[in-house]
Amino acid sequence: MEALEKPYAGLNSSIFFAFMKYDVIIAGAGIVGVSTAYQLLKRSPDLRIVLLEKEVEPAMHQTGHNSGVIHSGIYYKPGSYKAWNCIQGYHMLLEYCKQHKIPYNLIGKLIVATKAHEIPKLDQIYNNGIQNGLQKLQLLNQEQVTEIEDRVSCLKAILIPQSGIVDYKQVVKSLAVEISKFGSQIDTNKKIINVFPKNNELIVRCADKSEYVSDFFINCAGLQSDRIAKMCGIKLNFKIVPFKGNYFKLNDAKKNIVERLIYPVPDPQFPFLGIHYTRMMNGDQTLGPNAVLAFDREAYLNNGFNFKDSMDIINFPGFWKMLAKHWKTGISEYRRNYSKTYFAAKASEMTPGIDSNDLEPAGSGIRAQIIDDHGILVEDFVRIRTQNMIHVCNAPSPAATAGLSIGNQIADWYFEKD
Ligand SMILES: Cc1cc2nc3c(=O)[nH]c(=O)nc-3n(C[C@H](O)[C@H](O)[C@H](O)COP(=O)(O)OP(=O)(O)OC[C@H]3O[C@@H](n4cnc5c(N)ncnc54)[C@H](O)[C@@H]3O)c2cc1C
Repeated sequence: MEALEKPYAGLNSSIFFAFMKYDVIIAGAGIVGVSTAYQLLKRSPDLRIVLLEKEVEPAMHQTGHNSGVIHSGIYYKPGSYKAWNCIQGYHMLLEYCKQHKIPYNLIGKLIVATKAHEIPKLDQIYNNGIQNGLQKLQLLNQEQVTEIEDRVSCLKAILIPQSGIVDYKQVVKSLAVEISKFGSQIDTNKKIINVFPKNNELIVRCADKSEYVSDFFINCAGLQSDRIAKMCGIKLNFKIVPFKGNYFKLNDAKKNIVERLIYPVPDPQFPFLGIHYTRMMNGDQTLGPNAVLAFDREAYLNNGFNFKDSMDIINFPGFWKMLAKHWKTGISEYRRNYSKTYFAAKASEMTPGIDSNDLEPAGSGIRAQIIDDHGILVEDFVRIRTQNMIHVCNAPSPAATAGLSIGNQIADWYFEKD
């Protein structure tokens, strides 16, 4: 029973598993890693798979620190991996949640233009949505918005009724149970420090000196995926640069001012969606996240500084090229990073009357964002394929929504391996 409730606990007996050869080793038990294992096992239940996760339990990084939104796919460039996987993933996720009785709520979303210059971009997002095949989208004027959300003020908005919320940690927990039913497992506290070939096999070495052997390796290590790819001898023309986003939550008096997810029109220069209202599955109403450069890939509590992470950024020419283009935004975002006043001002653009006394801190998340050698923030999913490896090196938002579809696509690539 214990194994079913916490399938990743108590399975770290490297003495037993060290002598077992796996068909596939997956690095990282975030939503992309567990979805990949699940999709591989659904197609080929006899595969022997182990996920190696460096933390004490799955989903402790991006997957467990996100907004919990089920994205509809409206934003993404038609024809991109992102658009395709988001829409496929959306349907797969809802189906999975229904089957496994995971609560979710399609509360709907408004993207609101509060300034005249945002309207062309709003219209473009609407057209993307149509091209991406979304149904029931509506363009609303101010009056129509007020009828459904009386605290929201804007010039024009898109209503996306199919957007929703879910707890992605719960999804991962359930997927871990499903994986264990196939006889595969997640080994936690296993930080991968080296991957190398030996006699036509791959050896994966962990920080605790345990070694695992397999025929195939899949890198789903999120914020660390560029380092794992490098460890495997892959030459990269990009680096992951972490962007931190803080959240505030509204106090009890204000937490019900909006029903739906309320998003601004995103800045077209950045792949981030802007500070938005999100209702969490526990009933909290959050505001966030912003996006500031982080000098530590995994420090959630404060403005952490990690020497290795910082040197990686500073020594990367692509970072300086990116900074040359966006330094103004970068500096002002950094200065206002923890400012309640700034968050309240952003919220007031969409819902006048919010002030800093209505907000309390509510944690943070850190995004793995690829910047290429030319300083471009890469928006689409990036994968690298070799004969016996797949590296997922850019799985930014909406990869939680898209997780099951990304896993399915990785399974396609895996079965094409010969
Ligand atoms: C602030 C924020 C808000 C977001 N909001 C949304 C949203 O509302 N909706 C949505 O769809 N998406 C959202 N996203 C995006 C989404 O959360 C991520 O794209 C998704 O979770 C990525 O999953 P992953 O499995 O690739 O990465 P992760 O969840 O980061 O998992 C990677 C795993 O690899 C492990 N790992 C790393 N290095 C090693 C190693 N050396 N050895 C072993 N294990 C290792 C890590 O410990 C981690 O568990 C958001 C992201 C952030 C940060």
